[in-house]
Amino acid sequence: MHPQHARELAAIVGDETRVLTLPQAVEQLSRDFYWYSPVLRIQLAGKAGEAVVQPLSAHEIQDVLRYCYAHDLPVTVRGAGTGNYGQAVPLRGGVVLDLARMDQIESIESDGVAVCQPGVRLGALENQARKLGWELRCYPSTIVKATVGGFLGGGSGGIGSVAHGNLRHFKTVRALDVVTMEEEPRILHLEGDAIHEILHAWGTNGVMTRIWLALAPAVEWAQCAVAIPTFDAAFEFSERMAGDPAWTKRLVTTFEWPIPSFFGPIREHTPDGQALIFFLIALSQLPEFESAALAAGGQIAYSGAYTGLRTRPLLSDYTWNHTTLWAMKADEAYTYLQCAFDCDSVREQIRALKDRFGSEFLLHMEFWKGEDGRIVPGAIPVVYYTSEKRLNEMIDFCREIGVYVANPHVNFVEGGGRYREDNVQLLAKQRYDPKGLLNPGKMATFEPESGRKVIAK
Ligand code: FAD
Repeated sequence: MHPQHARELAAIVGDETRVLTLPQAVEQLSRDFYWYSPVLRIQLAGKAGEAVVQPLSAHEIQDVLRYCYAHDLPVTVRGAGTGNYGQAVPLRGGVVLDLARMDQIESIESDGVAVCQPGVRLGALENQARKLGWELRCYPSTIVKATVGGFLGGGSGGIGSVAHGNLRHFKTVRALDVVTMEEEPRILHLEGDAIHEILHAWGTNGVMTRIWLALAPAVEWAQCAVAIPTFDAAFEFSERMAGDPAWTKRLVTTFEWPIPSFFGPIREHTPDGQALIFFLIALSQLPEFESAALAAGGQIAYSGAYTGLRTRPLLSDYTWNHTTLWAMKADEAYTYLQCAFDCDSVREQIRALKDRFGSEFLLHMEFWKGEDGRIVPGAIPVVYYTSEKRLNEMIDFCREIGVYVANPHVNFVEGGGRYREDNVQLLAKQRYDPKGLLNPGKMATFEPESGRKVIAK
């Protein structure tokens, strides 16, 4: 990228402090957590943009994209850069569009819909919502850092999904304003099914500039850790709690031993050799819940009120993909997969995996509500990495036995497993980014403009 481009972009936003070209700063804002994957660690090392632009409004984004379109400059959108698959890592240089400064919560409507800019941190939105009697329906364990736009662009679900499903379902994302990458960039307002064009498309087909996100009524929560001698018994109890609508819960996470031994700061609450389950359960149900845990052969390893994201210990800091982080701290050869088991044959599938891979494949279960209302036994297993071949054997075996895998060791939307089979993301890219300048290389089935050879299903 010619240095003149950075100067002209600074003139466009009218503030040279919001166009960064210092290599160290640009490199830092070109990374995410792709190093979680030993495969991507090698593939994406050294990839970076050439300048970072920090817009303040949708209109500035329009101006920046108009310029980049005219000069064929790639643009990679960035929230907080906590994605795991290199979603926000530019493969072809160009501009990193850092939206961290677009961080205004515009309103929380009386029907519990938050209207906000994309750079709002999820933690800030949760805190604000709770003051008004609402809370996020679901959030990633990176809630404190991650942005709303980044969650919609690259995430899927997390804490709360056991009650409210993932981002894609139950009309959690109500509407979006999106800037297109065209000669004359437009601001589109998408609602209803049209939001699926942009959700989890990794910023490849539009830039979200305003988001309408449905919240849930706030609940007073308690945290509880239950230790149970065997994984089978722990799974039995957690599946029952997750599936029974009588329990008001926000989190049910089950760990096979030795995963709990990786949780250094809370090691006193992880009894040796036992499986462990972390719950966020309605405070009003805590006594009844503890009795149920004891009756299931468990012991209460920890319990206490949840008073917000500053609660210590914060059990959610050890769940979802944070579990992998603690495992990697214990031994950097650990990595992970993202799986969904079959509701009806989950026990047989777990047995087959343990028989085949033993301690190479450690069970970390997360539950979420599926689109049909059934509770899905999902997992982010901690796997021991020895080679890409062995990792692929694990993925292949999962698929052979009917376990769904969203592969986190690939760097294109279609490979990650959350690509829409109806191709709406690709069709949107063809319309909104005809030159293929948005996060190029990440939507593998796309071919630019005249090369629209990919036939949408
Ligand atoms: P970024 O990483 O900055 O961006 C993610 C993607 O969205 C990129 O492709 C980017 O280009 C695109 N994007 C960003 N903003 C926009 C925009 N305004 N318009 C269009 N595209 C945009 N994810 C989960 O879903 N659940 C979890 O529980 C979870 N746990 C995690 C735990 C750890 C320890 C880590 C490291 C990651 C975890 N993640 C999880 C992944 C990630 O943290 C979340 O998906 C997070 O919400 C991403 O937000 P971000 O602001 O960091 O996005």
